[in-house]
Amino acid sequence: MRFLDWILSFIYPNKCPYCKKIIDYKSTECMSCAEKMYSTSFRRIIGDNLICYAPLKYNSIVKNALVEYKFKNQRHYYKSFAKAMVNVSEINNLRFDTVTSVPLSEIRRKNRGYNQSELVAREFAYHYGIPYIETLKKVMENKEQHTLSREERAYNVKGVYDLLDCDISGKTIIICDDIVTTGNTLAECANVLLKHNARDVICMAVATVD
Ligand SMILES: [Zn+2]
Repeated sequence: MRFLDWILSFIYPNKCPYCKKIIDYKSTECMSCAEKMYSTSFRRIIGDNLICYAPLKYNSIVKNALVEYKFKNQRHYYKSFAKAMVNVSEINNLRFDTVTSVPLSEIRRKNRGYNQSELVAREFAYHYGIPYIETLKKVMENKEQHTLSREERAYNVKGVYDLLDCDISGKTIIICDDIVTTGNTLAECANVLLKHNARDVICMAVATVD
């Protein structure tokens, strides 16, 4: 350990995203949480027969970790979430050519400083040594999904995303998001990719509500 890292680990101790136990500065979570968090794999059908995987259930512990990740500047949690996704990919023997993520609007991205889904997706792609590609942009501002009823959510994402200047034809793409609730956002993004000749799209979220 470098001296500076050693000093910093005293001032800002590294904590497990889930149980908040102090962990080694190089670890991404504690051993006991890793055992629990990285043994599960959930599979749902969303939208028009799209498969969506998630390593975690959106329980109070995971919710707290995601809130800290998105709103309390714990951006390094992306490493733990990506590890969980890799585990799901291995369990289900997923095969894909490229990885992308659900985009944020420019305003939201600027305010937060990062796209939480992109960080996880990039780390996931890096693990497999395959390219992460920015494929989608938001072309319309919409209300935040979590502020709406289930019925309103499907309508709220329609026509909100479009393809960036990239070639995805014939590719099998994994698209990542942080939470999947109704699945409307991921399904809408996947449909844009399919409409532009992606061969197949697999959806993946850190946590699933259902
Ligand atoms: Zn823990």
